[in-house]
Amino acid sequence: MISLAEARAHVLDRCPGPVASEVPLADARGLVTAATVVAIGAVPPFANSAMDGFALRAADTVGPPADLRIVGTLAAGAVPDVEVCPGEAIRIMTGAPMPPGADAVVMVERTAVSDDGAVVTVAVEVGVGNHVRSAGEDLLAGEEVFASGTTLGPGHLGVLASIGCGSVVAFRRLRVGVLSTGDELVEGPATLRVGQIRDSNRPALLALLDEMGVVSVDLGLVADDEEAITAALLDGVAECDAVLTSGGVSMGDFDYVKAVLDRIGEMRWMQVAIRPAKPLAFGLVEGVPVFGLPGNPVSSMVSFELFARPALRAMSGHVDLERPRVQARVVGGLQRHADGKVHFGRVLVEYRDGRYLAASSGGQGSHQLTAMATATGLAVLPDGDGVADGDLVEVILLG
Ligand code: AMP
Ligand code: MG
Repeated sequence: MISLAEARAHVLDRCPGPVASEVPLADARGLVTAATVVAIGAVPPFANSAMDGFALRAADTVGPPADLRIVGTLAAGAVPDVEVCPGEAIRIMTGAPMPPGADAVVMVERTAVSDDGAVVTVAVEVGVGNHVRSAGEDLLAGEEVFASGTTLGPGHLGVLASIGCGSVVAFRRLRVGVLSTGDELVEGPATLRVGQIRDSNRPALLALLDEMGVVSVDLGLVADDEEAITAALLDGVAECDAVLTSGGVSMGDFDYVKAVLDRIGEMRWMQVAIRPAKPLAFGLVEGVPVFGLPGNPVSSMVSFELFARPALRAMSGHVDLERPRVQARVVGGLQRHADGKVHFGRVLVEYRDGRYLAASSGGQGSHQLTAMATATGLAVLPDGDGVADGDLVEVILLG
């Protein structure tokens, strides 16, 4: 057996680096920028009103109330063509450009208009710049907007749109294929004959990929047959940046994934000192990383978390590869036995009264997927007899 750290380093060292490309804004959410973004123009591009009200000269409001002659109306999107002279005001809407001559806005709530609509009475004294959003208040032309290495969230995309970027230089979104192997596996609601089970790894792994923002590619379900596995894997690496298989990497007589990957790839078979997810195959086929994840449903998901997710994040240009970890107080104890491995217990994590609590989420067998489905954390249980009620444990927060 090798340590988790050694296995992870082996995987991370061999994955290819991220590839930069020009990505349309509509496809860029969650990607990492591969170059500095500079504002081409100012945001806002012109001084405009922050309120519905009246644009005027601040000096005219000294010693309220002040009666000012209304000389026009400016809607958002309008081009100001009337100058505001002393003793005058222009009706202005939020976002409309400040007219020449005006240096302040009074909100409509602080004004009253005469019955004939010709005069506005301003009830407050305001300073220069009142409710005016000046040009470049958010971004100046030429200013660095986002550094290289920024993960693009919804707000970032809004900013990029505001400076007129139709595309952004970012690390390409990965396409990752998922393949299930096993003669016992079937798909869909059909009645199971004895010996059969339904393929649960593929939907779970595809969803884990979707969740982390890569394109998931369903490579299907393949029988325990060397030729079929070879064909499916070669198809997969031809169209994907990485491939995940599950099953067929243990010590069984029909674990053909191992045999095939040995023949067509440069693979390493690892027995990692963890539970679940001890067996892991990793290597390159035609230069494409292939993760041979274990078949047991919980193992395949935990293996994804510990190996595939950080590797795929690195390949996507992320520097921060890890899920957050917290110290949590164990509720009800988390049992295990000493076996030379680090165990990852499926737990429910709760934040209450300023601290984290972690309790078992249910059956801890590697075939008991329900407790993995409901878990919000993986408790890192060092070798030994487990962690007693009230003791602290490190927990990886999921999702
Ligand atoms: P294997 O590593 O192929 O021997 O599989 C280990 C265990 O995981 C066996 O009980 C398999 O039936 C089960 N298994 C393998 N692949 C899947 C899958 N895609 N969905 C659900 N269970 C699976
Ligand atoms: Mg199998």
